[in-house]
Parts: sequence; C-alpha cells; structure tokens
Amino acid sequence: MAKIIDGKAVSAKVKEQVRKEAETLREKGIEIGLAVVIVGDNPASRVYVNNKKKACAEVGFNSYEYALPEETTEAELLELVEKLNSDGKVNGILVQLPLPKHINENAIINAIRPDKDVDAFHPENVGHIMIGDFSFLPCTPAGVMELIAETGVDVCSKNCVVIGRSNIVGKPMAMLLLHKNGTVTICHSRTKNLAEICSNADILVAAVGKAGFVTPDMVKEGAVVIDVGMNRNTEGKLCGDVDYAACFDKAGYITPVPGGVGPMTIAMLMRNTLTAAKIKNNMV
Ligand code: NAP
Repeated sequence: MAKIIDGKAVSAKVKEQVRKEAETLREKGIEIGLAVVIVGDNPASRVYVNNKKKACAEVGFNSYEYALPEETTEAELLELVEKLNSDGKVNGILVQLPLPKHINENAIINAIRPDKDVDAFHPENVGHIMIGDFSFLPCTPAGVMELIAETGVDVCSKNCVVIGRSNIVGKPMAMLLLHKNGTVTICHSRTKNLAEICSNADILVAAVGKAGFVTPDMVKEGAVVIDVGMNRNTEGKLCGDVDYAACFDKAGYITPVPGGVGPMTIAMLMRNTLTAAKIKNNMV
C-alpha cells in the first residue's frame, strides 16, 4: 500500500520558509512584488490567478494584477510587459497561459526580462536549466522534485520515467531528474512499449493530460508515482493522469489529485519570486 505524498503539507512548509525570508527582507526595507497578467476570461486561468494572488498575500508579497480584455493585441501586451520589466516594485512577472490565439506566446515569453521570469520559460532560463546553472527552476517540475525529496528516496541511479515532453513540464522535469543523477527516459505519444518502460521505473512522473492514463500494469512494485495531470473526469471532477485507486496498492509513494503537485507549483512560484528579489538586492 502506497504512502500518500501530501502536496498541501509540503507546499505549506515551502511557503512558510518563503514568508519568513520575505519578512526578514521587509525588515531591511525590501518589499517583494509579483505582477500577474491575465488576458481574457478563461475560467481555469482565473482560478490559477486568484490562487497565485492568495499565495502572495500568505507569504507577504505585494501582488499586482493586470486583467486585460480578450481583444488585447500582442503589441499592447508587449507594451505592458516592457512597463513591468522596468518597474522597480515588480520582482517577478507572470503572464498566465494560455493566451488568446491571436497573441504569439513565445513573443511574450521572450519579452519578459530573464531576471523577472519567475515561471522560468524564457529561453535564457531554459538554457540555464539545461546546463544546470540556474537561478529559477520551472515551478511544476521543481515542485515535483520537492515531493520526491519528501519521500526520502534518493534519485541518484534510479530509473526515472517521465511521460510527456512539453516545454513546461516534461522536458524540464527530465532535466531536473538528470541533474540529480537519475537515469531518465522521456516517453511521449510516439513511444513504443510505453507500459513496459514505465513498469521499470523507480520514479514515474505522469504529465500527459489524460485521466486514468497510468494503470497498475505500468507501475513497478514500490515505485514513487507522481501525478502532474489536471483533468476532469466524466463527472466533471478534478483528477490526474494516474488511476489512483487502482495503482494505490502497487506504488510505494503516490501523489493525490487534488492535493499533490498542484499546490507545489504555486509554492515554487513564491520561492522564485523571493529569489528574484534577493538577486536584485545582491543577496544571493
Ligand atoms: P501537453 O503540452 O499537452 O503535453 C502532454 C504530453 O503528453 C505530450 O508530450 C504528449 O506527447 C504526451 N502524450 C499525450 N498522449 C500520450 C500518449 N497516449 N502516450 C504517451 N504520451 C502522450 O501538456 P502539459 O502542459 O505538459 O501538461 C500535462 C498535464 O499536466 C495536463 O493535465 C496539465 O493540466 C497538467 N499540469 C499540471 C500542473 C500543476 O501545477 N499540477 C502544471 C502544468 C500542467 P507528444 O509530445 O508526442 O504529443
């Protein structure tokens, strides 16, 4: 029977560390600010943005929300990013994705100053992550690494399998596991013998976006199973990529959805914003 990795508890711990450090900075007269930009009225994006603002309040950051209408042009959004790039009160800039189709997401990501890019999506930060010399870690994969650390399982020399190769989750996830000396395999929609590859994983990270994708035959006895997926099942309930109930007895450790990776992503965003403020003030 698996031990449940409690993402809410681990994220609370991370946020408490951030809150304490932010308090120390405030005592030195340094306020920390995160700008959150949302374009359009995607309900899921609205929930994420509200959660990020709530987390800022919890850790004592100032949050500046820019809610722009759906018809905002790319030029207008770039103009706002430029303004935030040079705003001394803003340490981190987060543009909530996805953006409306008429806006080129890459153009926006590339316009964010790398030292304020707390999502770590800018190519300069992606390069740093690849090299292993980074200030900011991408929030979701970094949160997964914290959850794995919580189990006490050492990644070194373990067979690690990541299902998914997106720029936001799969690829950086694989890099972080590699930096910890895991033997890493990345699976995707063209992978053959996926179930067999997964069934050899000591650490299995699912970032597919398909409810119930990971079934017990894909899980090695005692494996660490991390579920990044955020999907809706047929009843509209939030669920992950892993068939949690069916895999529970086989896994050694497992993350629930909700309450696993989700809360970690926001906690790591807070940590990155703190790091940005420390870098700006020559404190790292
Ligand atoms: P994405 O960009 O859609 O990538 C999905 C990946 O899964 C792709 O690499 C795709 O392969 C692969 N895939 C799809 N069907 C597959 C199949 N049948 N067999 C093997 N691989 C398959 O999604 P994402 O942005 O990485 O997000 C993945 C999931 O994580 C989503 O549910 C998302 O909502 C969730 N998420 C959660 C958090 C959080 O904070 N908890 C944060 C970000 C994302 P190809 O590349 O070959 O198409």
